[in-house]
Amino acid sequence: MKIGNTDTDLLPCPFCGGEAYLERNHRAFVQGQSTKVTFVRCRRCNARTARFELARFGRSSHSAEAERLAKEAWNRRVR
Ligand SMILES: [Zn+2]
Repeated sequence: MKIGNTDTDLLPCPFCGGEAYLERNHRAFVQGQSTKVTFVRCRRCNARTARFELARFGRSSHSAEAERLAKEAWNRRVR
């Protein structure tokens, strides 16, 4: 299954077999604070990984690192 324009190999959803995608720069509230997060979500059933706050990873390389962790979390759950 090819997934749009992503550069990664996200495994199918462990719950419904649906297509997974990486949500980048998603604005969310974490403990009452508005922040940017990234996580992997299933398009069909909305199952998702934990959210990784971009701010935790510094300003320059935050996205890549947070995205890597989100992908790892998703693929780990699948196995
Ligand atoms: Zn699913």
